[in-house]
Amino acid sequence: MTTSKDELNVFLLEQSNVRGVHVRMDEAWSQVLQRRDYPAGVRQWLGQALAAVTLMTATLKFDGKLSLQVQGDGDINLMVAQATADGGVRATVEWEREPHMSATPLEAFGERARLSLIISQAAGEDYQGVVELSGDNLGDSLAGYFKQSEQLLTRFWLASDGNRNAGMLLQRLPDEEDQEGWSRAEVLGGTLFSEELMATDGKTLIRRLFHEEDVRLHDPREIAFKCGCSREKCGAMVVGLGSEDARELLIESGGEINVDCEFCGSRYSFDGIDLEALLRGDMGDGSENGTLQ
Ligand SMILES: [Zn+2]
Repeated sequence: MTTSKDELNVFLLEQSNVRGVHVRMDEAWSQVLQRRDYPAGVRQWLGQALAAVTLMTATLKFDGKLSLQVQGDGDINLMVAQATADGGVRATVEWEREPHMSATPLEAFGERARLSLIISQAAGEDYQGVVELSGDNLGDSLAGYFKQSEQLLTRFWLASDGNRNAGMLLQRLPDEEDQEGWSRAEVLGGTLFSEELMATDGKTLIRRLFHEEDVRLHDPREIAFKCGCSREKCGAMVVGLGSEDARELLIESGGEINVDCEFCGSRYSFDGIDLEALLRGDMGDGSENGTLQ
């Protein structure tokens, strides 16, 4: 048995001009799974989404949070996976029924499903891109997005089970005329099996797969489960209902409004005194959330 750290490795196949990213997040994944009992047919999508969004943080320049969100009308209604630039990850999913294990994205999320990638910057404007659901898995859909919107050839390998979650991304860097390097890297990546991807630590896997290539390996980045929820944010949500509705909710819920975080399970409770303090605090600053009746 090997014990592994949760980490992300970025590497460059120098001769081939291909960028690679590998992530392994067993401990962070087990913390995501602790929250609820996910059936395997749901869990596999959450694992794919969380590994993919974490891999993508290494291909983008940003200092905030990257979210992968699928909203649909199929077996799974809503899935959100997020990774921050400093390696924090979290994810949650709501489902109607467990999709078949071999379901395609369109079958699992429905014909009208919408996959969005949202970059929330610590400072500056948010960016949102819409990804068309296609192929056999989320990696195929995301590869299609990179090709269409960025003209970048990209491949994803994603694998997870009840204990392990891992992924690898290869991306051909721009300004490269020679197609051969990319084809070679893609073929080498294609020899990777899910079990090998889940069971091997990043450095070993990268060296093994690309031992004939000129590999430049960057320092690993630590990955950890981190939830950005707070009492302040949940309080703002309550205030967002508007004072009438918030007071009504307080009565309906027996004198205490409980807000549960979908990502980490933390509960934030607000009694009547808390609520009035919240409403007073937010009424004065021009906050326009909610409607007053
Ligand atoms: Zn939370």
